[in-house]
Amino acid sequence: AAKESGKDSFARYQPGMGADILDHAQLGAQLRQALDGGQLTVRYQPVVRLADRRIIGMEALVRWRHPERGEISPGDFIPTAERTGLIVPLGRWVLREACRQKAAWREAYGDSSPSTIGVNVSGRQLLQPGFADEVADAVHEAGLEPHHLVLEVTENAVLTGGQAFDTLHALRAFGVKIALDDFGTGQSSLRLIRTCPVHILKLDKSFVLAAATTGTQARRQAAVASAVLRIAEDLELDAVAEGIENAEHADRMAALGYRLGQGYHLVRPLPAGEIGALLAREVAPR
Ligand code: C2E
Ligand code: MG
Ligand code: MG
Ligand code: MG
Repeated sequence: AAKESGKDSFARYQPGMGADILDHAQLGAQLRQALDGGQLTVRYQPVVRLADRRIIGMEALVRWRHPERGEISPGDFIPTAERTGLIVPLGRWVLREACRQKAAWREAYGDSSPSTIGVNVSGRQLLQPGFADEVADAVHEAGLEPHHLVLEVTENAVLTGGQAFDTLHALRAFGVKIALDDFGTGQSSLRLIRTCPVHILKLDKSFVLAAATTGTQARRQAAVASAVLRIAEDLELDAVAEGIENAEHADRMAALGYRLGQGYHLVRPLPAGEIGALLAREVAPR
């Protein structure tokens, strides 16, 4: 829309694509082609139990295989997708693809397959009329049950209030799980857990990184990390520590009481085929 293509959108654009940055309009046009032309793909990153590294869940992370630029990270095109509205068809595609993949893993690996598939959802999608129905359709068409799907929303996506909350309540009533992503980085994290229908808190990676250092700042971050865990436990929510990059991070988070984690040190985001190889190993007795 004309309103969105003014100076403001350039001011907020976060370039991360190197010297030859595509402008917002060009990027939007190319993204539209990418969607139609099958250039989008999904990587999957497990959520693992810190105690024994067992794979508990999986998260779908979209990638753009650009014909000239190679693989582009979501941080470099999701903001454009949101402003152009392309996030709606893009998100719909990721949701269906992830549900299909989850069902395929269950078919192939049974009980050793991850019990949930997480899909990231933008605020704009939550505001789309009919989004809850779309989710229900995707779940049913893949032959999944609602509790197999985790929708990951950020605090900012939910803060738009009214309609977004109504949609989350409808989704919760349907039976899908809701995760608050990047938890602790928003403006009103504490207010949200009182009001938002949520099952899982994903502690933002900035807390994990800082909690493993030393000094006053680290102590403060660790204090927040453990307070988030306490709240999760009291409310009977799951808590996941994001951004476990090394053994020390894993030990530190486990020492604070976190049972679940996600990060490069545990398993990197991988193409579906490589995840299959990991799951095959879990089927075999160790
Ligand atoms: P997120 O949902 O919080 O996903 C976690 C991000 O952290 C991913 O980046 C993942 O690759 C990265 N990560 C995993 N382990 C580590 C680690 O140990 N250290 C560090 N520093 N990072 C780690 P990615 O794939 O680039 O995605 C970035 C964000 O883009 C996601 O953050 C999510 O907000 C958004 N996103 C990704 N896929 C989708 C999608 O299909 N739809 C929407 N709306 N947003 C998406
Ligand atoms: Mg996420
Ligand atoms: Mg996150
Ligand atoms: Mg994040």
